[in-house]
Amino acid sequence: MRLNGPIKLVHMADSTSTIFPTPSRQRRTVCVYCGSSETTRPEYHALATRLGEEMAQRGVRLVYGGGSIGLMGRCARAAHAAGGDVLGVMPRFLEKKEIVLKDVPHRMVDTMHERKRIMFEESDGFIVLPGGIGTLEEAVETLSWRRLELHAKPLVFLCEDDFWDPFFHLIEHTIEANLTPRTFVDAVLKANNVDDALDAIEARIPA
Ligand code: AMP
Repeated sequence: MRLNGPIKLVHMADSTSTIFPTPSRQRRTVCVYCGSSETTRPEYHALATRLGEEMAQRGVRLVYGGGSIGLMGRCARAAHAAGGDVLGVMPRFLEKKEIVLKDVPHRMVDTMHERKRIMFEESDGFIVLPGGIGTLEEAVETLSWRRLELHAKPLVFLCEDDFWDPFFHLIEHTIEANLTPRTFVDAVLKANNVDDALDAIEARIPA
């Protein structure tokens, strides 16, 4: 079922309606949040490519920001080349800057909020690859909705090195100050390889 009209803020415990109802779909869909940089470490680009390939091999649909640059472009191209199903969601004002990937289906939207809403609604879970402020913003917003119990979709931080450690330390810092409950660490999943990240998501998607 799709949500029409303005987003309604309803607590998840209200079983009749939630802010983000999960659309009925046959395929598992994972949204990938990741960097748009062309000049980051080649290992990060390679990780994005491997993630896209493995998603296609597992029959997991990819939803992402719609661009052809950085990790996002590599992940989407790899998934598409391996026969995977891909949806890009691109704000019109970024069409040229992030170079919309025309090889895959994409939806053009007007705002960043609309992009994030569609990416969220279309997905059963999220993988966060190395990225910059945009990636952080997307991951933190999704986690904050989880903290507010607006959804229970899994989110996994994936990197093969210590890239996300400062972020995990920051979360721990807020826990130690009693600003975030200790139990919330369960919502901050971590993986250091593609298979573990996808396994963690798939194990948490309701059948
Ligand atoms: P970055 O990690 O900074 O390279 O950004 C990764 C992606 O996040 C890019 O496609 C940005 O357009 C996107 N992005 C940045 N800020 C936002 C936002 N507020 N909402 C949705 N997407 C964003």
